[in-house]
Amino acid sequence: MNAVLEQPMILVVDDEVHLRNSLSSILNIHGYTSSTADSGETALEVLQGRHFELILLDLCMPGVDGHQVMRWIADHQLDTCIVVVSGDVSIDSAISALRHGACDYLKKPYETEELLLKIENALSRRRLEKEHRAINLQLKASERWYRYMVNSSPDFIYTLDADGVCTFCNDRAQSLLGYSREAIIGRHFSSFIHTEDLEAARYVIRERRAGDRAASNVEIRIPHGTNSTLLTLEFNSFGIYEESDTDAPPKYIGTYGVAKDVTEKKKTTELIMYQAYHDQLTGLGNRKLFKDHLELGIAQARRYQHKLALMFLDLDRFKVVNDTLGHVVGDLLLIEVAARLRNCLREGDTLARQGGDEFTLLLPQINHRDNAICAAEKIIKEFGVPFQIDGHELYVPMSIGIALYPDHGDSMDTLIKNADIAMYDSKAKGRNRYQMYASSMSISFDERFSLEIQMHKALEKEEFLVVYQPQINMLTGKISGMEALVRWASPLRGYMAPMEFIPLAEETGLIIPIGEFVLKSVFQQAKLWKQVGLLPQRIAVNISSRHLEQDGFVDFITCLLQEYDLSGSLFEIEITENTLLNDGDHIIEKLRTLSGMGIKIALDDFGTGYSSLGYLKKFPIDTIKIDQSFMPRFAGDSDNESIVTAICTLAQGLHIKLIAEGVEKADQYQLLHTLNCNEAQGFLFCKPLASQDITDLLIKDPPLGACWV
Ligand code: C2E
Ligand code: CA
Ligand code: CA
Repeated sequence: MNAVLEQPMILVVDDEVHLRNSLSSILNIHGYTSSTADSGETALEVLQGRHFELILLDLCMPGVDGHQVMRWIADHQLDTCIVVVSGDVSIDSAISALRHGACDYLKKPYETEELLLKIENALSRRRLEKEHRAINLQLKASERWYRYMVNSSPDFIYTLDADGVCTFCNDRAQSLLGYSREAIIGRHFSSFIHTEDLEAARYVIRERRAGDRAASNVEIRIPHGTNSTLLTLEFNSFGIYEESDTDAPPKYIGTYGVAKDVTEKKKTTELIMYQAYHDQLTGLGNRKLFKDHLELGIAQARRYQHKLALMFLDLDRFKVVNDTLGHVVGDLLLIEVAARLRNCLREGDTLARQGGDEFTLLLPQINHRDNAICAAEKIIKEFGVPFQIDGHELYVPMSIGIALYPDHGDSMDTLIKNADIAMYDSKAKGRNRYQMYASSMSISFDERFSLEIQMHKALEKEEFLVVYQPQINMLTGKISGMEALVRWASPLRGYMAPMEFIPLAEETGLIIPIGEFVLKSVFQQAKLWKQVGLLPQRIAVNISSRHLEQDGFVDFITCLLQEYDLSGSLFEIEITENTLLNDGDHIIEKLRTLSGMGIKIALDDFGTGYSSLGYLKKFPIDTIKIDQSFMPRFAGDSDNESIVTAICTLAQGLHIKLIAEGVEKADQYQLLHTLNCNEAQGFLFCKPLASQDITDLLIKDPPLGACWV
């Protein structure tokens, strides 16, 4: 017997006791378990309480007969099988019994084998039925499961027929694409695709290949069905083929595909790409983008034999704006600068920000150098108009360097380098101008390099020396102080003035060891003068802003004061207005510390920078040095006279000492005297002199300034 239906329970329903018992005992002998009911009524009762696999049912019984029992079973949908056992042989009865659900009919009297055969047949039919039912249930469940999986997939799944018409798609069509399934099925795939992607779509969406060779990860854009979004989907598709029994190649019957929504991912990638190639502040291309375009531009210029221009543009006064008005205004200015530059472009030009206030411009196709000059002139003109930023009127001119392909180089690096050199040259020649590269500039570039190397060596070989220029008290005419000025006695270049090497020293940072050398020499000399009783009231030393900004600057001075046992009040440091503009708070702290040590602070070249009255109040300034360019050059030079007059009035109002520089003529001295300027310095009294000559002068101590009043 089947393991699933082990010990099937059989109910024997018969009103004849002998038959009932004989049936029951036959069943028991053959391994079946059975119960009996002696009437239709008892059968109904029993059936309400237990489940039977099979019922052997007598049709003719008094009271509730077999037909009624069967009707009852049908009404109550009992899951059992009925074999009718009856003496009634009429065909009507048999048909009626079978119609009401009996699965077989056994005529009394019956042979035991016949009975057992019928029972076994009925039970095995039931077994089969049950198995079928179970399989059916399983199938339904798995189909539901697959449908569920397909429909709840985050991806769009579809099949197309061999013509490219959609034959199936999952529910994702609605939520992802904005189309109902009905709107997609039956339509050709191409009606959904963005026109520019149709070619790619023909290749991937209707992919004919199968397996590993199938198209994968191809991005196709699809306009959303109901809104204006343009979706990007990544398609993977495979051909579907009908297997054939013959050797004939399998027949293509359609495509199966899966498409993933990569719209967001794509946007993120595009953003990352954008950021990698663009300057965030101005939205212009960056250095990387520029190099890419330049490389391409050079390749094309080479191929089609035309010229190309590369410009290096640098704002002339950006740092001052940034330092005085703050980074927010600085940033706004850069944005405006970028916008103004954009207005000067033609289609196809590439403008990029290299960083800071440096920009590069690529004109990829020009016929003549004049085209580049024309563009540069246009930019210079545009930048002649001041910018209105945050209530400030800012005049920030441009210096431009131009290099042409192939005239000034045929490689990317050479062109960039030469445009840069030309830009520096244009700055050196006075700013707010453009300069076309010339090979002579490169010599000066190499020259800068060799000068730098020689300066390094000069420090080791102690080729620098310090000269002193006396400062005269205008009341007494006597020497009140000295300004220490550096010189370079170069065996290769001769005796050099600071303007020939200080700018490069500032740029390269060599100004720091040079400044330290000057300070040491000054302290040594002061000690010597002190020892012979010739110490002047004050020695002024020029300090570069780069040096002052150094962390160890104050400590360096402190050590010197201790080492040479000198008082701070003997010294004055001269700084320029622009020093105050850099890193304001940090500098103010240092100046206060130095001031606290008795050291005086002088503002050098006053009037040429950007400092305002506010600066004079904010910083501990003891002295103002009127720049020599303001000394009236001729009798009646009223412009300069009024500037000098204004500075004198200002300084006196603030109780700040005034020193006039570059005093060469007696009438200049007289004017300063009238204006009650405190001190004067210039060739009129004395040129800068070597320390030994100053010692001689100090010994004589003549009234250098008395005779011109
Ligand atoms: P500065 O600080 O304005 O120095 C005054 C400059 O004016 C000196 O030039 C001096 O020789 C010159 N001078 C003095 N009297 C007259 C005059 O009557 N007429 C004219 N035309 N010029 C006069 P120098 O020595 O060539 O120095 C030039 C600049 O180099 C200095 O200008 C200063 O900015 C810088 N410098 C000089 N020595 C040092 C130094 O040791 N360290 C630093 N950082 N800079 C220095
Ligand atoms: Ca000075
Ligand atoms: Ca000066």
